[in-house]
Amino acid sequence: MLAVAPRRGELFSFDTFRPGMSNDVAHRGRQEWGQGLVNRLKAVFFDIDDTLYSTSQFSKLARINAVKAMVSMGLRMEEDECLRELDEVVREFSSNYQHHFEKFLLRVGEDAYRGLNPAVLVASAVMAYHDTKFKQLQPFEDVRPVLEALGRTDLRVGVITMGPQIKQAEKLLRLDLIGYFDPGAIFISDQIGIGKPNVKLYMKACRALGIWPVEAMYVGDNPPNDVDPPNQLGMATVLVRRGGKYAGVGGATEPDFDIRDLTELPDILRTKFDVNMT
Ligand SMILES: [Mg+2]
Repeated sequence: MLAVAPRRGELFSFDTFRPGMSNDVAHRGRQEWGQGLVNRLKAVFFDIDDTLYSTSQFSKLARINAVKAMVSMGLRMEEDECLRELDEVVREFSSNYQHHFEKFLLRVGEDAYRGLNPAVLVASAVMAYHDTKFKQLQPFEDVRPVLEALGRTDLRVGVITMGPQIKQAEKLLRLDLIGYFDPGAIFISDQIGIGKPNVKLYMKACRALGIWPVEAMYVGDNPPNDVDPPNQLGMATVLVRRGGKYAGVGGATEPDFDIRDLTELPDILRTKFDVNMT
């Protein structure tokens, strides 16, 4: 958490961002779009997890299926108890850790699987997890129509996401959303070497597209990661409150737009940014 609440657009004067760019111009730009006076939006970037699909819901279902698989292979534990233990492993070792199920078995102890090969239990859990991914990964219903509509505009449509590069890229492919994004506008923290909430990640994305931060919008669900940093750069910020795991989390700054799902986005783009949405 930032010690001091950042002012909007305060980091907008990165000399390295564009030679000759002045604080003055930057702030004026932001004020102008804030008043709906200019059409200067050139790109819209999206977060992936809990913005384009329900990460929370998917992970829960995948873990339930993994636990069921281990129990059906002979693990001597109640499913509820397994789930609680597995949730702890994920919390303690992060969701991107590669060996959740091995750690899970270490914790529950050998008595729960004596006579069974732990590798078989782990494999059954991994398979159930992946099967869930193949069958259940779907974007939120409102996502595809909005991305389609954005595709009919002049805006560049991209992604700025946090996570391992192949895992995040796989999500775009499995969700069948990859075709909606500009191939040159997909930015994954792991691939860039800069993670949220570092403003440099957002700055890098804008710079790669050759646009100013005021010319970009960011849409995400996590206030400290998805609202505060782009606000600091002067980007337009949209917080999507779908009720995921950051529903109760507040940031240091307020988003420009606070929406329940993406169906509200076309209207914002039309009325506040003069984007020709059809
Ligand atoms: Mg997210």
